[in-house]
Amino acid sequence: MTEVRKGSCACGEVRYEVAGEPMFVHCCHCRECQCHSGSAFVINAIVETAQIRQLSGELQAISVPTRSGSPHDIHHCGTCQTALWSDYGQLAGMRFLRVGTLEVPAEMPPDVHIFTRSKLPWVILPETVPAYSVYYDFNDIWPAASVARRRKATGQG
Ligand SMILES: [Zn+2]
Ligand SMILES: [Zn+2]
Repeated sequence: MTEVRKGSCACGEVRYEVAGEPMFVHCCHCRECQCHSGSAFVINAIVETAQIRQLSGELQAISVPTRSGSPHDIHHCGTCQTALWSDYGQLAGMRFLRVGTLEVPAEMPPDVHIFTRSKLPWVILPETVPAYSVYYDFNDIWPAASVARRRKATGQG
């Protein structure tokens, strides 16, 4: 049976369900994520857009500047501005869901820590989870099934 999890923005107007498991979960310690969140990192569950079912509310997509120059749109609640998910690279089929908006964020722990070069020094990472100073090649550590899902969702190898 497919697990269906619920989430929402801070004010509760945007509610959603996400069906099934993410392809992979990033804990990103880059400076952009720190700035967007005002915190130490952002936890992004990489899912197919089709896994997300928005139940209520209005989303507003806001384009944010990126150092890489690659497009990044963050989808916010139109009322309280909570960020619910990101579209990196304008790939219609894939979303980076903000794990902190789930009812039970602990159910999607990070599979990898990235951009640890800008990790705050008091954040201690577990030795059992891979960590990369900058980015990584998903082919190296993603399960084969997730690689196949990503290929289908993005139309990219
Ligand atoms: Zn809201
Ligand atoms: Zn980041």
